[in-house]
Amino acid sequence: MIELSPKLNTLTPYIPGEQPKNLEEFIKLNTNENPYPPSKNVDNLLKTFEVDNLRLYPPPHLEDLREVIGSFYGVSGENVFVGNGSDEVLGFSFFAFFYGKKKKILIPEISYSFYPVFARLFDIEFEEIPLREDFSIDLDIFLEKSSICGGIVFANPNAPTSLGIDSKRLEAFLESLDPNIPVIVDEAYMDFYGDSIVNLVKRFKNLLVVRTFSKSFALAGIRFGFAIGDSFLIDSLFKVRDSFNSYTINMLTYEIAKSVFEDIDYYNEIVSKIIKTRERVKNSLKEMGLEVFDSKTNFLFIRIDKEKFNIDAENVYLKLKENKILVRYFNSPEKIKDFIRVTIGKDEEMDIFLEKLGGILGAFKG
Ligand code: PMP
Repeated sequence: MIELSPKLNTLTPYIPGEQPKNLEEFIKLNTNENPYPPSKNVDNLLKTFEVDNLRLYPPPHLEDLREVIGSFYGVSGENVFVGNGSDEVLGFSFFAFFYGKKKKILIPEISYSFYPVFARLFDIEFEEIPLREDFSIDLDIFLEKSSICGGIVFANPNAPTSLGIDSKRLEAFLESLDPNIPVIVDEAYMDFYGDSIVNLVKRFKNLLVVRTFSKSFALAGIRFGFAIGDSFLIDSLFKVRDSFNSYTINMLTYEIAKSVFEDIDYYNEIVSKIIKTRERVKNSLKEMGLEVFDSKTNFLFIRIDKEKFNIDAENVYLKLKENKILVRYFNSPEKIKDFIRVTIGKDEEMDIFLEKLGGILGAFKG
């Protein structure tokens, strides 16, 4: 047997949602991708891309790209870190802010399931802070426990619960917190809520806001995420990155990412469309007698009451899959076993979803 690192036995990797080979047969509502295409600008850019440029390494510090992003969010380029998807940005952040501290970090009991994966990878102890009964994040407990913690991480809006915390509440939270505790707020879905705290990074030097082009910008395939924070935090992320790989942004991604804000009107338009569809589908589901959370994201978190419908969430997921509709089901933790998470697709896709779901629930109700 080849001898590998003993650390491998301690890892429990993140499990991404299915990406089926025969994609065209499915309505894919399982990974929170955007159902609309990226801006036409991306098309033009790829058609005119100078292939000869691929001989070259991309610029290591991507100053112009970071300036473009910074000016959109009202900060300077030195306040922006960029990475290969926000997953990578989060991974580097866990290393830069928490690794080796011998202090627990605090994360919500239910949140993005990559956080515990990074924590285990870097031997960072973590404590899962219980959600309130309504599944919202309880910042008071975070605050109570913060005096002995090495950092705080949560998503806002949270996933997979889809619930948001308003910026005023977060501002008060940051005001009460020891300013030496790093706080990572993962705003992957923020454009579907519109209550960001990016503007607070100037005031709170311990705050890192993480963003992605994968959701509202319909560019999951280019793998691009970024973080906004004080230059002290940003420099620490580059130090980590440059100890792994100095070129995490490939030349094509670099060119596309630079152009994104030029067509911001288009992206605002598709975000509005998705929000409109979300609200309509949420109401239809409620009319069907289902409990649906008040989503601030591009997905709905739906409880399937087994007593009421004679079918559990896992079987609803399986039946939908038989009907060529992919949604996400999490068989752990226990607390979310009765839910399915459904990404908002195009109107016509959601109509088929509603019809098939209605059929499945109707058949079992008897
Ligand atoms: N944060 C949250 C809360 C997410 O749901 C996701 C998507 N899986 C990510 C970060 C990562 O997104 P990406 O790596 O595509 O930027």
